[in-house]
Amino acid sequence: MAIKIYVAENAGAAKKALEADDYYVVKAGCPKCSDKLEGNLSVSEISLYEPGEKRGKPVPPIKSSKCGVPFMFEKKVFVPNEFKLQGYKFQDAASLGIAKQASYIYISASDEFFKKNEPALLNAGAKELKGKEYEDVKKRIESSEEGAIEGMGAIFG
Ligand SMILES: [Zn+2]
Repeated sequence: MAIKIYVAENAGAAKKALEADDYYVVKAGCPKCSDKLEGNLSVSEISLYEPGEKRGKPVPPIKSSKCGVPFMFEKKVFVPNEFKLQGYKFQDAASLGIAKQASYIYISASDEFFKKNEPALLNAGAKELKGKEYEDVKKRIESSEEGAIEGMGAIFG
């Protein structure tokens, strides 16, 4: 496990990566004509093709190719948004007392998670924090949480 913190000047782009929808990578073809279906399909799109599918029990697609014969799926890989599964903290600099037009993303996850998912954040313009700045922001994020819990205690205690 590791804790990494990223700084994003474009909070919107970073949020888009963090909150991206799950999708399927599909490759399908018609056994009769040359019609093909290939690319990334959203979960709602794939349900157009296989509405009766139950988890672990694929049924033949009902969406037909141009000639009317249903597509045969060669590949159908579910790609979940792992940021949502993993969890992360997203805080703007101002809320941490840092005078900067930026947001910070704090993620505690396995090396494998970072290896797989970090590129989406970097592509969205986020940069990994290192050294002194990392330590400082980490402390602020972690202590802002403790503060929040203390605050709750004050209300409910
Ligand atoms: Zn066809």
